[in-house]
Amino acid sequence: MDRPLNISGAAERFPFVACAYARALAARSEAFRRQLEPDERELEEEENVGHDPFGEEDESSGCFGLKQRFPDRVLVMTSNACFMNCRHCTRKGLLRHAEVVRTEEELSACVNYVQERPEVRDVLLSGGDPLVLPDEEVMRFVRAFADLPQVDVVRLCTRAPCVNPARVTRSLAESLAACGKVWANVQFNHADEITPEASAACANLVNAGIPVSCQTVLLAGVNDSEKALLDLFRALQRIRVRPYYVFLCDPVAGVAHFRVPVEKAKRLARVCAERIGGLGLPRFVVDIPGAARKTPVELL
Ligand code: SF4
Repeated sequence: MDRPLNISGAAERFPFVACAYARALAARSEAFRRQLEPDERELEEEENVGHDPFGEEDESSGCFGLKQRFPDRVLVMTSNACFMNCRHCTRKGLLRHAEVVRTEEELSACVNYVQERPEVRDVLLSGGDPLVLPDEEVMRFVRAFADLPQVDVVRLCTRAPCVNPARVTRSLAESLAACGKVWANVQFNHADEITPEASAACANLVNAGIPVSCQTVLLAGVNDSEKALLDLFRALQRIRVRPYYVFLCDPVAGVAHFRVPVEKAKRLARVCAERIGGLGLPRFVVDIPGAARKTPVELL
């Protein structure tokens, strides 16, 4: 595909970033390119849709750089940068001004927040992408929470295996695995993304002993067909990554052109369930602001 990337227009409102690997993948895959290239349709307004659907700018939930929506888990903002700014990102309007934990004092305040709430057992290291940080910084976050006896799981939420797989080195994977509590949540949205490099990155994590799960986003024009989804789930299983969730797009500004109608999502969920065994079948869900859990599409 020789067509040059068009990074004008929507990129003024929602910034464009893409590393060399992501650009090269976009040149080979139209499905991936649609996740990377700014699109004028991002500027379309939608009724009752804003830039912060989950109230992450609301300071009453958590502390600086830490957000809590559910009783047993918290999210820690480790960075506001990514290897690529996905055009469908939930935080696309938030990242530039997001509270990011940087100093020892800020990290200690997050640790204290967790310690004061013994029901918290799962800490998500998110952003942005935590793996834009150097290994020692990543491990500083991991150890700070993994060292707490109440914490069972430190979730590394990263798109690096898909968009910059060389970042997921064997030595990083072994350091992460050594603490015994790290799980990786990755994001692949199309089988084109399961390249030899991405497979090697996931193998580094899995071989080190880290459970790896995939959270896919259902995106119109990218993966909203039975074939695209089944190809993706099967490819993920081949590299030992568990398809975990398929999310409908969040109610956030700038993603209207990616939305898949609920009835179509329900039909895709039903058809996939008939075609693939449970271990390869993710749950199709919607993250509804204020809901106590992720809502399965069949309940909509
Ligand atoms: S990697 Fe994650 S946080 Fe970064 S732009 Fe993509 S979806 Fe958003």
